[in-house]
Amino acid sequence: MPRVIAERRDGRAHARETLEAIARGAATGSIPDYQLAAWLMAAYFRPLGRDETAWLTRAMADSGARIDLSSIPRPWVDKHSTGGVGDKTTLVLLPLLAACGLTTVKMSGRGLGITGGTIDKLACVPGFRTDLSPEELVGQAGRVGIALGGQTAALAPADKALYALRDVTATVDSVPLIVSSILSKKLAGGAETVVIDVKCGAGAFMPDLAAARSLAEMLVEVGALLGLSVRCAITDMDQPLGRTVGNALEVVEAIQTLLGAKGRFRDLCLQLAGLALHACGAATNREAGVERADMAMVDGAAAGRCQAWFAAQGARGDLAAIAADLPRAPVVREVLAPCAGWVARLDARKVGEVVLSLGGGRRRKDDPIDPAVGVECLVAVADAVADGQPVMRVHASTGSQADEAEGALAAAITLSPDPVPPNPLIIEVIG
Ligand code: URA
Repeated sequence: MPRVIAERRDGRAHARETLEAIARGAATGSIPDYQLAAWLMAAYFRPLGRDETAWLTRAMADSGARIDLSSIPRPWVDKHSTGGVGDKTTLVLLPLLAACGLTTVKMSGRGLGITGGTIDKLACVPGFRTDLSPEELVGQAGRVGIALGGQTAALAPADKALYALRDVTATVDSVPLIVSSILSKKLAGGAETVVIDVKCGAGAFMPDLAAARSLAEMLVEVGALLGLSVRCAITDMDQPLGRTVGNALEVVEAIQTLLGAKGRFRDLCLQLAGLALHACGAATNREAGVERADMAMVDGAAAGRCQAWFAAQGARGDLAAIAADLPRAPVVREVLAPCAGWVARLDARKVGEVVLSLGGGRRRKDDPIDPAVGVECLVAVADAVADGQPVMRVHASTGSQADEAEGALAAAITLSPDPVPPNPLIIEVIG
């Protein structure tokens, strides 16, 4: 390892075997953390090139079990989001894709910081199981078109070890390391087509467009080297996605969307579905894919797939009953506009931090979360508001928490005396 660390430190290229040995050593624990940490810091300052990243990614995927989807119908598609505030896209996109004939086996994570996690959202649904074995995931995907489980230590264990070290050594935000982390899990999960929502803005991991673009480009290029068809959409995360932030509130919004509610969140799901359908050859272009997905939403096929998926993983009752059964916070308060104007900014980070303080997210990996709390955003950027109009709604567990949240939310919204254009939903598509 000292020779390998020096090679990276001095900016000399690694051979494929070197990267394979690093992934193996990380997964088995045979390379001590202090040497892996030193290598990660060297790789942070001397970023891996495309080939090196592809070799590392494949080796990380090979460090554990691989899910074999060969017994279930193609196309096999997966989606990933770099994470954001109010991002419940998986709950709508997977049923949409299944309704259009695509099969998804997905591993999802738990939320950390202001970024929510799909597993936490589904954990709010009484009876919903997320601990499916690889055999159960594949069997269910074959029957229903969708199976979703929590990240398991069996898949890409090298990523688990490297990510844990990156988290405590200030080496998370290295594009090649992010690419290898994301794509190793996708490869191990068996997908062939992957749609990645690269969030950009105040509430995202990548706050500016240049950084989001370089991540998206490398995901597409390294994906191609690994035989994956990767499409990236760089999408707005300056304001929260949709109306709700908070686990149970977001499940309700996802169900309402499947049952017909309109808005930016629905539009994003359709756009990502169009991208996936085109990427795996099920639509001639993105627009045709969006149209097909829209039909599956309007005719109830997507809601039907969601119902079948939730039932297969243990939820009881129809979607409306599931939504009605979710936990609710005892204190609900409205935040009022201090004057008339147009919404110029609704800061996703600040809203995410409020939900975190309400107990709806975790600051550390093992913190408990309160599924019922959260924030409803009743307006979006560019909306006109009247003086005193409710602009947000806080769902809190106590009155004093609600008081604090009200003050912080008032600072998250900026009104302009002049009309403001809406933020573009999809900023760029790469791949
Ligand atoms: N998401 C991942 O899965 N890995 C990273 O490194 C960053 C975001």
